[in-house]
Amino acid sequence: MSKLPNVTTSIFTVMSKMAAEHNAINLSQGFPNFPVDERLTEIVSRLALEDVHQYTPMSGYPPLLAKIATLVKSSYNRTIIPETEILVTAGATQAIFTTLLALLKPNEDVIILDPSYDCYEAPILLSQAKPIRVSLNDDYTPNWNTIADAFSEKTKMIIINNPHNPTGKILNESDLENLEALLEKHPDVLLLSDEVYEYITFEQKHISTHTRTKLLDRCITVSSFGKSFHVTGWKIGYLVAPEYLMKEIKKVHQFLVFSVNSICQIAISKYLDLVDVNEISSFYQKKRDYFRSLLKNSRFQLMPCEGTYFQVVSYANISNENDVDFCKRLITEFGVAAIPISTFYADGKDLKLIRFCFAKDNQTLEEAAKRLCEI
Ligand code: PMP
Ligand code: GLN
Repeated sequence: MSKLPNVTTSIFTVMSKMAAEHNAINLSQGFPNFPVDERLTEIVSRLALEDVHQYTPMSGYPPLLAKIATLVKSSYNRTIIPETEILVTAGATQAIFTTLLALLKPNEDVIILDPSYDCYEAPILLSQAKPIRVSLNDDYTPNWNTIADAFSEKTKMIIINNPHNPTGKILNESDLENLEALLEKHPDVLLLSDEVYEYITFEQKHISTHTRTKLLDRCITVSSFGKSFHVTGWKIGYLVAPEYLMKEIKKVHQFLVFSVNSICQIAISKYLDLVDVNEISSFYQKKRDYFRSLLKNSRFQLMPCEGTYFQVVSYANISNENDVDFCKRLITEFGVAAIPISTFYADGKDLKLIRFCFAKDNQTLEEAAKRLCEI
């Protein structure tokens, strides 16, 4: 008897495995392949010889909590209390899982916007709550009327993901105003804001929920150092929540992991003194522009990319296959792995769109683009 009968192995695992088996260039799962900042690796190697190998306090290494508060202050001018409003987690995935498990009760509804990242649904189902999947507009902007219509007396939470994986869309000022207006009408509904790509936006600046005072008393904001500092394998992230919610979240966290990898926490806390998070966007903007220029003469049609390190393309000019089959053939025949966008929809909507990760060194992007231009 499965507790999650419809959940299968994540598409990121499936595509990365298949890419490895066929020796394809892996632009599917989102992770960088270039070296990590030497200042960070040096901190880690020095730390390994020090007395840093035991549990940190449950909520996080105190100097890291303080540095996160400073980061949120400098990025968004929001003052948060490190001891009561921040929790360091084993990646954003654990932050999200823990939050949902701690706050949801059976038969409550959670609104998710499709296409949506894959880690929201399982913890909702395990809480015996119900995911209500509402489609974004065709241009991936939220349709606030449709979203409002999905609210009912059962609605406990809405999850937003901004900047958005897989589409690279970011929310604008009017989206945030619409969200505020909607939640004002539903004073008991919570907001989970997945902002793991908060430091990867291009033409427009990211508007964080941290800056929206009307939302703060019911908002859980999640981020990931894995994404910001190119260390996805470290699995280190954090969430910020008001104390009354944090109390509940910590009850689950203490029995799920208790505390997070000590060395990584200490290393990140030291690195935060050296790094400028404002440089991350321009670093990735160059990669985005380079990758797009390399694909300009291909038969793929490039969709807009306002943030994240993902480029969505249409292959409608190339093939009529469904996107999963097309991605498989892309690996076996052309040696490049991508993610089919249909897997981010509850109903598997096939729009002939696939996602490439451009967090790669230029040589990898060039070789991948060469292969893609031959199709
Ligand atoms: N949310 C989104 C939108 C993501 O793309 C990812 C993947 N990094 C996560 C959450 C999970 O982040 P982490 O790897 O820190 O668990
Ligand atoms: N967030 C990554 C992506 O979107 C995947 C991480 C994972 O495999 N869990 O590609």
